[in-house]
Amino acid sequence: MKKVVILGAGLSGISTAYFLQDFDWVESVTLLEKESRPGGLCRTIEKDGYLYDIGPHILFSKDKEMLELMLSVLEEKNDLKRSNKILYKQRQVQYPFENDLSKLPEEDLKYCINAFNHNPYEDYEATNMIQFFLKTFGEGITNCYLRPYNEKIWKYDPAFMNTSMVDRIPKPTQEEIRRSAAGETVDGYLHQLYFSYPTTGGIESVPNGFLRKLRPQKCHVYTEKAVTGVRKNDDGYSIQVEDGSTYEADLVISTMPVQALTEAFSGVPDDIHKCVDGLRYNSIAISFVRTPYDLCGENYAFMIPDRNVIFHRISKMDFLGSAYHHGNEATYMVEVTYRKNDKVDAMSDEEFRSKICRGMVDIGFAHNEEDVSILDITKYEYAYVIYDLNHSANMEKIRNYYRTQGVVLNGRFGNFEYWNMDRILRESFELSKRLNEFA
Ligand SMILES: Cc1cc2nc3c(=O)[nH]c(=O)nc-3n(C[C@H](O)[C@H](O)[C@H](O)COP(=O)(O)OP(=O)(O)OC[C@H]3O[C@@H](n4cnc5c(N)ncnc54)[C@H](O)[C@@H]3O)c2cc1C
Repeated sequence: MKKVVILGAGLSGISTAYFLQDFDWVESVTLLEKESRPGGLCRTIEKDGYLYDIGPHILFSKDKEMLELMLSVLEEKNDLKRSNKILYKQRQVQYPFENDLSKLPEEDLKYCINAFNHNPYEDYEATNMIQFFLKTFGEGITNCYLRPYNEKIWKYDPAFMNTSMVDRIPKPTQEEIRRSAAGETVDGYLHQLYFSYPTTGGIESVPNGFLRKLRPQKCHVYTEKAVTGVRKNDDGYSIQVEDGSTYEADLVISTMPVQALTEAFSGVPDDIHKCVDGLRYNSIAISFVRTPYDLCGENYAFMIPDRNVIFHRISKMDFLGSAYHHGNEATYMVEVTYRKNDKVDAMSDEEFRSKICRGMVDIGFAHNEEDVSILDITKYEYAYVIYDLNHSANMEKIRNYYRTQGVVLNGRFGNFEYWNMDRILRESFELSKRLNEFA
């Protein structure tokens, strides 16, 4: 019989407990969570009677088994059809950009189709993100949209990012591009065209649904337990928490960011510290914004490649169902990525707020800055894994090290992979099967 301790109670920690609880060799599963509430990135914030998530979260997947499981824990869901746009030079282009080219100004339209049809980069092997865009979409689509948008969201030169994120993107056919240029809006990225969202309670209803399914005899979730020390000893592991409490474990599964684990773990060699320091990631600031009217229409998310607007994406909570809608006004999640010590991080709160209000006017969602109320701002340090060119080599060494220590890494930042909720569930499921085989 084994005592399992899981570090971190985001969706990854919770779903790992959910899958492990059925095995007889598991005596207990203890989850230690730093924050006052479980859920991690899937928490929903309540402010003045409104709900918003830490960035737009929707439920979709090609992995039908995990999607079904995720939806099965919800009490009720709304089924919705994507209506996402790109704001390009004061025009609304339907997402994905390459499928709605006729909305572009004449000159940009010609640039995009000609460069796609006569693409000198087509036959090269793409070894970084920008090469992938040039090879797949041509110079026009890359320079008009993909380059500026990706530079904005990643705040990292795409020439220094590998192709892990993008090489699953399908190449549009010449036929599709021709139809899109001739005026037909073609639906793309079909796997996320239809999606679901909890009818009430925001995206946090998903981790909450799994929490309800944990058996109290076996699973114990403790909040306000920031893990500060993990020591391997002869019988297993001893885990220290900031409040002075200690937990003993036969098996440790870490879903907290690998940076936090490495700080806490005793005896990590310098070369592993160096690899962990080399991992790149973005933090996110979500401004929850209200306008007394709705100038956005029946749409959900807008991508904004314009470098003069501080945010890269804005999404309307109201689109997701009546529980998220108040009268004639509109409420939005406005996303700005940043990294420690960059220019966004260095901005005063006042300057940051003023740029959000300015941006709302510039994109045409507010008549003037006075109409924009920023109701709340939530910052989350670990939001996006950046697949920089050293990511794979760094993570291989880090994973090997923790394998030799018997510590299992799981989760978006625990294992440092760009995983969405469906993939998190899949990984937790497969992990529990592997652990069961070796038990
Ligand atoms: C802006 C944005 C939009 C997204 N949209 C979607 C979407 O539309 N659809 C989708 O499927 N996925 C989406 N995702 C991805 C989804 O949020 C993640 O896949 C999922 O939440 C990751 O869960 P996790 O448990 O691995 O990580 P986290 O949620 O980060 O959980 C890690 C937990 O560890 C805890 N922790 C940290 N340090 C310590 C410590 N020292 N001691 C104890 N605990 C600690 C944290 O508090 C946290 O609760 C989105 C992500 C972002 C950032």
